Amino acid sequence: MFSQSDSEFDRQHIWHPYTSMTDPLPCYPVVAAQGVHLQLADGGELVDGMSSWWAAIHGYNHPRLNQAMQQQMTQMAHVMFGGITHPAAVALCRKLVALTPASLECVFLADSGSVSVEVAMKMALQYWLGRGEVRQQFLTLKRGYHGDTFAAMSVCDPDNSMHSLWRGYLPEHHFAAAPQCAFDDEWNERDIDDFARHMEQRHHQLAAVILEPIVQGAGGMRFYHPRYLQQVRDLCDRYGVLLIADEIATGFGRTGKLFACEHAAIEPDILCVGKALTGGTLTLAATLTTREVAETISRSPAGCFMHGPTFMGNPLACAVAVESLTLLEEGHWKTQVAAIERQLRDELLPLQASPQVADIRVLGAIGVVETHKPVNMAALQQFFVAHGVWIRPFGRLIYLMPPYIIEPEALTKLTRTIGAALEHPSHFVS
Ligand SMILES: *Cc1c(COP(=O)(O)O)cnc(C)c1O
Repeated sequence: MFSQSDSEFDRQHIWHPYTSMTDPLPCYPVVAAQGVHLQLADGGELVDGMSSWWAAIHGYNHPRLNQAMQQQMTQMAHVMFGGITHPAAVALCRKLVALTPASLECVFLADSGSVSVEVAMKMALQYWLGRGEVRQQFLTLKRGYHGDTFAAMSVCDPDNSMHSLWRGYLPEHHFAAAPQCAFDDEWNERDIDDFARHMEQRHHQLAAVILEPIVQGAGGMRFYHPRYLQQVRDLCDRYGVLLIADEIATGFGRTGKLFACEHAAIEPDILCVGKALTGGTLTLAATLTTREVAETISRSPAGCFMHGPTFMGNPLACAVAVESLTLLEEGHWKTQVAAIERQLRDELLPLQASPQVADIRVLGAIGVVETHKPVNMAALQQFFVAHGVWIRPFGRLIYLMPPYIIEPEALTKLTRTIGAALEHPSHFVS
């Protein structure tokens, strides 16, 4: 099903995320996936600890998600969204409006997370045009991640996303110090100082603040204090700056709340969702905003919101997203995520004793082992695959975010294998 020559072609011709074309790390051919298992071409089976990057929350090959796609396929796979609407988009947006904070009423369907961030930033810029003010800068947090397209990249951590490469091309925005006070720490009032100073000094130029609520994902898997987020909301209100919450990773239950903003009981002015929106089946994201922002955008000189991707509102993606949200509405995710959280704490926290480990943290269905030294990706990945698990570490982070349906034995296999991996010094770069 997957020959040596397929692997060779892949190496020679196909880019994978963040890889070199001349010296790529090995890639493992997967030919099928079921529940929490990935099936390798050589017959091996891996327990999935990644949910395909936060997305496959209900597991793979889910009969109800498949059924939703098959059903939609018999009607139409796609139709343009300009001047046309369709039942799947309406059903999805109804659910999104109902599930997200009450003030968010207007939905823009985007085709990926990065695009939904572009859309959110453009909404903020057009909002200020509608108010007759020029405000073109954004304030964000160090260690953040918002995607790989240029506007999104401009608000990612400047070091992680190598802003130095794009100097002169990338718009320059403002970066407040990353929150230091962790989710469970006692709140330290000083933590917000740098952010507050930026707000005080620049609020007249700021179109919006953009951040990942509570969990900074790809920029370091850091869990920060809900009071920080509350204070950000207060400062945005005080200075009249919009707040964009990027819940592309955190949305749909991953942190133990349906949306991470709920940990701080705040509502953003603009919300981005993606990743788990379709249960990990098709690419789709959405940007939601308030009636007031939407109406102000419509008063801007353009008279409309200036965005409209070709595959906007793709019916197949919308239909499967409706079914994924229906599964969430049935509510099992809450007990599943709580059980995963308990088990991750029980099984990962003891690894703190390893000399390789700098920190262990768990929030919802996310478990993070931060090491002192960077991991040797190729060696560690090979070890994990040889031991029947799929865990993709980066930098000094080995982390788990399994599908919510994972059984305790499978989760133990993941945590045990991390424990075993820590015992080999060759898995780390000295
Ligand atoms: C993954 C991610 C994005 C980008 O989404 P893509 O679908 O990869 O474009 C943006 N923001 C956050 C917080 C993410 O985790």
